[in-house]
Amino acid sequence: LSQYDYLIVGSGLFGAVFAHEAHKKGKKCLVIDKRNHKGGNVYCEQIEDINVHKYGAHIFHTNDKDIWDYVNQFVEFNRYTNSPVAFYKDEVYNLPFNMNTFNQLWGVKTPEEAKTKIEEQVKSSGITNPKNLEEQAISLVGIDIYEKLIKGYTEKQWGRKATELPAFIIKRLPVRFTYDNNYFNDKYQGIPIGGYNKLIDGLLDGIEVRLNVDFFTQREELTRLADKIVFTGKIDEYYNNQFGSLEYRSLKFETKTLDQTNFQGNAVINYTESQIPYTRIIEHKHFEFGTQKKTVITYEYPDEWSPGKESYYPVNDDKNNAIYNQYKKLSEKDDSVIFGGRLAEYKYYDMHQIIASALKKSNDFL
Ligand code: FAD
Repeated sequence: LSQYDYLIVGSGLFGAVFAHEAHKKGKKCLVIDKRNHKGGNVYCEQIEDINVHKYGAHIFHTNDKDIWDYVNQFVEFNRYTNSPVAFYKDEVYNLPFNMNTFNQLWGVKTPEEAKTKIEEQVKSSGITNPKNLEEQAISLVGIDIYEKLIKGYTEKQWGRKATELPAFIIKRLPVRFTYDNNYFNDKYQGIPIGGYNKLIDGLLDGIEVRLNVDFFTQREELTRLADKIVFTGKIDEYYNNQFGSLEYRSLKFETKTLDQTNFQGNAVINYTESQIPYTRIIEHKHFEFGTQKKTVITYEYPDEWSPGKESYYPVNDDKNNAIYNQYKKLSEKDDSVIFGGRLAEYKYYDMHQIIASALKKSNDFL
């Protein structure tokens, strides 16, 4: 008889939600993580009493009341609303593209004027059959928005010229003809009061967690401990990369503590010109309306991924999707393991989607 019902590899949101649901149903769980902390990519590190989003800025948002109620069981959320600002040369623009942005770009004041301006620019581009990302973006929003707010940012993100990127990366570009700087359209939004670690601690309350344990260094012993494995790491690694490695985009973060109370006046500022190597500066205290004496900022640099670097964004092109599908087929024949989460499914998921997916999978299996 095994010591545990489930060995859960990864203490990120997927692993933590699955463990919580299994524990609630009387299952004995062991959660392991190779990192020295719980929470996966939502983990926050405390610096100067400020919750620093160590793996990139995380803003919780959802339209689903059940998911919102679910997370609020563990921690209360504040009223933070994501309203990023873009710096382009010496100009300042509100995001997402809305009436404030159009006023800043062209001095227009009414939705009618803004629509006319965009339509004129789209029309004068003459693009009917976009062949790359640049043409696709211009055909959707016109030259000004593209040049000032999309081009440099996207080229930095992908490390390639917009003319060399496929058009499908940008399917739509939401434009909003209201003076509304709220980035998300969802009904519910906020940051856990006291940080994301509280959410993870709440989910994992009463569950055994072992940190600094990499599944692959003790695979056999760990597998023997439990009846079933829930695996939230990389699916290609799980199957010894037999069909090849899945590619990612990576990020580099440079974090600084500054001896001032307020550096940039907003949690998120995007740098949309190509000459500046970082894409954003995050000032973490503003996520929680912090009043600390100092401030902590993080420069975010897109980075070419190679094995060993953190895997942030899957590159879901045809080549990688085909490799993933081979792993997926293999996993469907494998009853000893449940795969879930962004690395095991090779898919970008927002937090609310990960929670929904973990709840669904736990419901199916438990
Ligand atoms: P992870 O959090 O990555 O957890 C996986 C865990 O498994 C990790 O802790 C890892 O150490 C562990 N692990 C992996 N392999 C092994 C192994 N071999 N042995 C032991 N442990 C292992 N979502 C939003 O809703 N809003 C946002 O604003 C937002 N911003 C984001 C910004 C960035 C830069 C990124 C990259 C993502 C963002 N997300 C955001 C998405 C969010 O991070 C994910 O939805 C969520 O963290 C995924 O949870 P997960 O459990 O699948 O994966």
